[in-house]
Amino acid sequence: MPPKGRKSGLPGEFELIHRYFAPLAAKAPLAFGLSDDAAVVRPPKGMDLVVTKDAIVEGVHFLPDDPAERVAQKLLRVNLSDLAAKGAVPAHYLLATAFPAKTKAAWVAGFARGLAKDQRRYDVTLIGGDTVGTPGPLTLSLTMFGYVRSGKMRRRAGARPGDRLFVTGSIGDSAFGLSILKDKGHRSLSAADRAYLAGRYQLPEPRVAFGVALRGLASASIDVSDGLLADLGHLAKTSNVAAVVELDQVPLSKAGRAVVSRASGALLTAVSHGDDYEILFTVPKRSVAAMLAIAKRTRTPVSEIGVIAPGTGVWPLNGGGAVPIPKRGFTHF
Ligand code: ADP
Ligand code: MG
Repeated sequence: MPPKGRKSGLPGEFELIHRYFAPLAAKAPLAFGLSDDAAVVRPPKGMDLVVTKDAIVEGVHFLPDDPAERVAQKLLRVNLSDLAAKGAVPAHYLLATAFPAKTKAAWVAGFARGLAKDQRRYDVTLIGGDTVGTPGPLTLSLTMFGYVRSGKMRRRAGARPGDRLFVTGSIGDSAFGLSILKDKGHRSLSAADRAYLAGRYQLPEPRVAFGVALRGLASASIDVSDGLLADLGHLAKTSNVAAVVELDQVPLSKAGRAVVSRASGALLTAVSHGDDYEILFTVPKRSVAAMLAIAKRTRTPVSEIGVIAPGTGVWPLNGGGAVPIPKRGFTHF
């Protein structure tokens, strides 16, 4: 659509696309250098295209002074995490950028550098998008495409009573990191712990290799973005089962443990805040050993945190006793 004439610190729409975005599509012949109305996607034979989209908004998902490079990387990574949870190999993405008038070209340059860096790291390429201005906050939306064997996308549904419940990495770092960056929280931590947690908020680590390698072994999985307990609730509900989760088995990083040892409520924050971008998954008992071998091979930390049971709902336990949970996860509205 033609832009409505607005004053902006940026070069024109077409110059922006040509200068910052077209180089990111150079390796995709069917994106035609971003010089056509659309790109072509040709799935390899026998594969399904798996599609996901996540939008991020300044002031909601990232902070106004987060570095542009990291905002770009986070945008890519939150989408990569969805594909990882589904066992899909990531391939291409579409990008919509809505820039407020105050946006500087240097910001867009940094943003494009961040995309370039993670395109190399995860072997994905830009194939198109849209560039608009907005009277609102900076808004970035990315649609990521990946591939799985036809009919084989791993679902949230599929968990069965008796399946073991696992999660990758550590939970809660991002919640604590946000509090450090936004509210100057957790001041009694060491500088190294604070920097680690802030880094985990700005730069999640999607479990791409592990998510793909997990195929055939996990009965169900979900990306942890809304909070561990909330996302576990989604998995349990879709699978028509109950989930028992041992809160003292939930993996915390060294810095996360330091936070929890100082503030008793912090563990509940860790399991309900979200923004973790780890994979929560269930494994039938017979496949646990094979799964652990894959975790080792892909150097992915995994922790067993509970078990699937008949019934409905999420049952958090702490050393055997049931725990009342005031708020299980993040909701926008
Ligand atoms: P139209 O107005 O027909 O939608 P545009 O002028 O918006 O076309 O886009 C021209 C080309 O540039 C298209 O191939 C589009 O996919 C690409 N493009 C536009 N904005 C972006 C962006 N932010 N990131 C990647 N590609 C983009
Ligand atoms: Mg357009």
